[in-house]
Amino acid sequence: MTHLSEPSAAFLEGLRELLGPKGWLPADGHPGYFTEPRGKWRGRGALIARPILTEEVAEVVRRCAAAGVGVVPVSGGTGLVAGQIATDGPTPVLLSTERMDRVREVSREDAAITVEGGCVLETVQQAAEAAGMLFPLSYASQGSARIGGALAANSGGVQVIRYGNARDLCLGLEAVLPDGSVFHGLKSLRKDNTGYDLRNLLIGAEGTLGVITAATLKLFPRPAETATALCALRSPADALTLLRKLQETLGESVSAFELIARQGVDFVLDHIDRSRDPMEAKHPWYALLEIGAPGAAEALEGALGELWEEYLEDAVLASNEAQRQELWRLRENIPLANAEVGAIASHDISIPIGRIAEFIAEGDDMARKVAPGARINCFGHLGDGNLHYNFYPPEGRRRDEPEFKVLAPLVTRAVHDLTHHYGGSISAEHGIGRAKRDDLARYGDPAKLAAMRAIKRALDPVGIMNPGAVLSVEEERT
Ligand SMILES: Cc1cc2nc3c(=O)[nH]c(=O)nc-3n(C[C@H](O)[C@H](O)[C@H](O)COP(=O)(O)OP(=O)(O)OC[C@H]3O[C@@H](n4cnc5c(N)ncnc54)[C@H](O)[C@@H]3O)c2cc1C
Repeated sequence: MTHLSEPSAAFLEGLRELLGPKGWLPADGHPGYFTEPRGKWRGRGALIARPILTEEVAEVVRRCAAAGVGVVPVSGGTGLVAGQIATDGPTPVLLSTERMDRVREVSREDAAITVEGGCVLETVQQAAEAAGMLFPLSYASQGSARIGGALAANSGGVQVIRYGNARDLCLGLEAVLPDGSVFHGLKSLRKDNTGYDLRNLLIGAEGTLGVITAATLKLFPRPAETATALCALRSPADALTLLRKLQETLGESVSAFELIARQGVDFVLDHIDRSRDPMEAKHPWYALLEIGAPGAAEALEGALGELWEEYLEDAVLASNEAQRQELWRLRENIPLANAEVGAIASHDISIPIGRIAEFIAEGDDMARKVAPGARINCFGHLGDGNLHYNFYPPEGRRRDEPEFKVLAPLVTRAVHDLTHHYGGSISAEHGIGRAKRDDLARYGDPAKLAAMRAIKRALDPVGIMNPGAVLSVEEERT
């Protein structure tokens, strides 16, 4: 039973007046706000609020709290777990940060950048580069994902191995809390032990504890030189050995280490225009890796030379920026190719790094039993223990066939059971949203879940913020 209300016509008219002509859109005629990248979920909303000022966000939230109307924050809409997609319950107001997209300040002295919640991730990277610095958060949706969403989902991407995920990159936040008060926490301090850490509570909360309106983020020196290689390997175990040996030789300069299965390369070659295999022969596994340091190319060439005979089947080193981008396109196009093929079930899991090879072998055995004939595309950020372990129909079949619809929850249950058995996580970087809510309830630590419910009730007693995301509405109340 929900305690929230449908917004009345007068309530919505009040919001339209508050926000002005550019500050809102009708829900009808703007389907883009109600779909998500995998096309599995469809959302609803009474109105799309597009505030431009933090105080406007605060007033929208205050009015929603007073009227008991749900608020669903949306930034770039690229989230993969339907956190931004309201599917049931009374119709909420969608709160888009897209007009709050300014870079407020770049400081080389503080090695920090302050941006609004709707600033596109790529814009933050470019602003850092223009100041001669690096903002390292990086993934395939960076041209659309916005900082508010990236922090709310605590997203990861391809450079976590060296620089950490969104949480590690955030120094301070400005946010509107569920009662409409504004948390002014935009600090660039590296040390600040002054009580409970509200910033870290809001990061990863997926919009259930407030709206992130601005953030101060860490910047880093740009590596003097970058070297990129695609290595062909016999097995995930060899990929892990390669990673360990490179880290022993080259230390923290290893800034990316992506595992790619042959199936992923085949999907890209089959479905993405102008893609080509960088190697002549086919290999079962690949690692795309990057080193950032003075003398990186020479150091990488030397390290790979030493490992060649024992571990490498082949390797391609990028000799210029165009070749580097071509290698990265192969990796970044995997999610797009996957979407073209259409997954029966996809999983974003993490496993203790030392047990990944064992997990993949046992997972493949399990797959043969649960989903005989299914194609597995296993890829991901191996250096972080993060696998995208996805199942696809056999060649020539489609995921919407009834057989696969029945199979999907069985596959996911088997993968998540195995992940849990290995001490892993059922959500490494995409979050819980609405897609994994039941899995969180099943596998989550009971004490942690009880604390989450208590925090939610304390900060959002009316339950307006992103109702039904992360915790079910019923759970929040108990
Ligand atoms: C092709 C592709 C590749 C991807 N690769 C990666 C990857 O490598 N690593 C990774 O971690 N993720 C990846 N993602 C998913 C990633 O989570 C999103 O791209 C991004 O982090 C979410 O940002 P967004 O602005 O699109 O947020 P949205 O999708 O709009 O929202 C995501 C969540 O945050 C909440 N939210 C949005 N804005 C705010 C705000 N201002 N305040 C509070 N809550 C808010 C929403 O309610 C929702 O719960 C990928 C997605 C795609 C489509």
